[in-house]
Amino acid sequence: MAANLAQGSAMLKLNGNEVSAVRKTALSAKVREFQKRNGRPPGLAVVLVGEDPASQVYVGGKIKACGETGIRSFEHRLPAACKRTELKLLIEKLNYDSQVDGILVQLPLPIGLEGDEVLSWIAPHKDVDGLTAHSMGLLWMGQPRAISCTPAGVMAILQHYGISVAGKSAVVVGRSNIVGKPMAHLLVQADATVTICHSRTTNLREHTSQADLVVVAVGRPRFLGREDFKQGAIVIDVGIHRQPAADGKTKLCGDVRYEELEGWAQAATPVPGGVGPMTIAMLMENTLRLAELNVAT
Ligand code: NDP
Repeated sequence: MAANLAQGSAMLKLNGNEVSAVRKTALSAKVREFQKRNGRPPGLAVVLVGEDPASQVYVGGKIKACGETGIRSFEHRLPAACKRTELKLLIEKLNYDSQVDGILVQLPLPIGLEGDEVLSWIAPHKDVDGLTAHSMGLLWMGQPRAISCTPAGVMAILQHYGISVAGKSAVVVGRSNIVGKPMAHLLVQADATVTICHSRTTNLREHTSQADLVVVAVGRPRFLGREDFKQGAIVIDVGIHRQPAADGKTKLCGDVRYEELEGWAQAATPVPGGVGPMTIAMLMENTLRLAELNVAT
């Protein structure tokens, strides 16, 4: 769907809830076809170590999305105090389980377990999050198997709204392995000219305020606002934070002061309801993609 992005019109809300629903519906049909052809559904193993409340919510959302799309989920919970060898054994067992096409280890891990090391135990053909060195290498060579879900979700939102980044200047704020680096690479692959900013960037605004497209993945609540972007920019907010609200409850916010962008930006993602739901949709798509590749080899 190509949206009307004429300058001067009201800011277009890039609605991740809607886009993810559309993609999950299309995916469900493909999952049914896969099951018909192969006599089993695609399988996703989700490993949660510890009791981090946010991680429990994320894992719950992923398991629910499996149910909605027809993917079979295998949930494994280990205590925060579990031994390194126990986790390694579980991942090795999943590597050899023919019902499991993708393995996701929910990050962050409790203190004492090193995320990069744990990810390296996942067999490359089951790396559904695209976060191992092998997957990152393939991505940088332009031959990805599974692309890191959040950046892939950003590209899917842009595609849904008919926003081409070819020839545009793009700034990615953040250089993490999970978001910033793969995001920058996907934008380059889509023919944008990309600048990556980080905590040592001097005068961040000088960069963000010149860009046609800014992806913010800085991990600081409401860090950037209207004055940080050029008029007519497209702003993608990856950040997600739970903040105390006036009524004593908590509410979600992003890295961007979204309400300041109305009448200024051309299009932007809200939080909640922007990039977050896309991450889960892309995880489901990655699971099917790996399943297709796994049965073909
Ligand atoms: P990290 O903390 O790993 O990375 C943050 C990046 O921001 C780092 O590269 C850091 O620079 C940079 N940074 C920090 N402070 C500044 C600053 N003042 N100016 C410029 N750059 C700065 O976070 P993640 O990439 O994992 O996540 C980013 C955000 O996205 C978080 O809010 C996270 O919760 C959210 N997130 C949301 C997801 C979703 O599904 N919606 C999925 C994943 C993450 P340096 O490298 O120099 O330290």
